[in-house]
Amino acid sequence: MSANERAPGWNPPIRILMGPGPSDIHPRVLAALARPTVGHLDPFYLQLMDDLQQKLRQIFRTENRMTFAVSGTGSAGMEAAVVNLIEPADRMVVCVKGVFGQRMADVARRAGADLLCVERPWGSVFQPEDLLPALERHRPKVVGIVMAETSTGASQPLVEIAKLVHDHQALLLVDAVTSLGGMPVEVDRWGLDVVYSGSQKCLGCPPGLAPITFGPAAMELIQRRKSPVASWYLDVRLLSSYWGSERAYHHTAPINMTYALHEALALILEEGLDARFARHLRHHRALKAGLAALGIDYAVEPSYQLPMLNAVRVPAGVDEGAVRRALLERFGIEIGGGLGEFRGKVWRIGVMGYSAREANVLGLLAALEQLLPEFGYSKFDKGASIAAANQVYVEALK
Ligand SMILES: *Cc1c(COP(=O)(O)O)cnc(C)c1O
Repeated sequence: MSANERAPGWNPPIRILMGPGPSDIHPRVLAALARPTVGHLDPFYLQLMDDLQQKLRQIFRTENRMTFAVSGTGSAGMEAAVVNLIEPADRMVVCVKGVFGQRMADVARRAGADLLCVERPWGSVFQPEDLLPALERHRPKVVGIVMAETSTGASQPLVEIAKLVHDHQALLLVDAVTSLGGMPVEVDRWGLDVVYSGSQKCLGCPPGLAPITFGPAAMELIQRRKSPVASWYLDVRLLSSYWGSERAYHHTAPINMTYALHEALALILEEGLDARFARHLRHHRALKAGLAALGIDYAVEPSYQLPMLNAVRVPAGVDEGAVRRALLERFGIEIGGGLGEFRGKVWRIGVMGYSAREANVLGLLAALEQLLPEFGYSKFDKGASIAAANQVYVEALK
């Protein structure tokens, strides 16, 4: 049986996950999931929670006390951030340049926000001046923005926007679902008020937990709320009595998922954040060089390309879904298709966490070299993509 075939029963096939998440899981993280389950108030587990919080603070680069993991995926982190900060009729601005900005706007509307969306074309990012009129006109309490827009592959700079938002007495809420663990996210240094992420992208853990951090200004705003948070499950004041010293039961924590996230964070800190960011960049550069040799372009201009999510244009005339199916069936490689405006037009190739490895990048390029001519596209020199990627790796070793 080849690695890609399924054994009888419900044994999952072995895949190479190079889509927009989940990413490949390191064997140590998978092994952590299978450790004995303890109770959610067991002294062992409480110590593990403390250590998890400490590790999360290091990875978010923050001193924020209220740093923990929401039980739920990245979208639960988004919902937790929004519903805790926003009371009905509170003014909020959401920056929309792709699917996840749209989702944040939807969450804000459902939370009863008096919402103003500022939009930029898909594949672009916001400059501070794009936000200024909305800040002056709408006087928001909170501004929400996506740092790594996974639907377009665009990397949103945050430093100047954070300053501008604070100059207008608003708080900045940041989606770092795809960026955390793959590129610098400097919560304290950049002055980000609330930041959430998800376990299954660059953190390299299965989906199911959403790391989140609330800064002092955000906690103060939450303490001053006049109405209770509309979500009981995601109410950070209730959650803080479980994650804090009281240890009051709120909901049963996902124990084994916490083991997995803890192990994934330990791997990150063993590697070192800077080395990890450099690794993501190296594989992005190798992939990009290989794709260029195939004549495949990015959907985002070079200065704003994310390292971990490569949104590239499907060559004209190629059936993008058929290529993805063949990649999966014949090579066990998963890449993503386009969402929303980019549906049918782009492939989204992830090099996230444990997926960011030579074997994956070289394997994908080799598979594309083999498949693309079958699907009617052969305007490239055979072997050139592998050579170009290898060139990047060789230079990086010097
Ligand atoms: C994946 C993603 C989400 C949603 O996370 P889920 O884990 O799918 O709920 C939110 N924002 C961004 C930028 C994402 O990439």
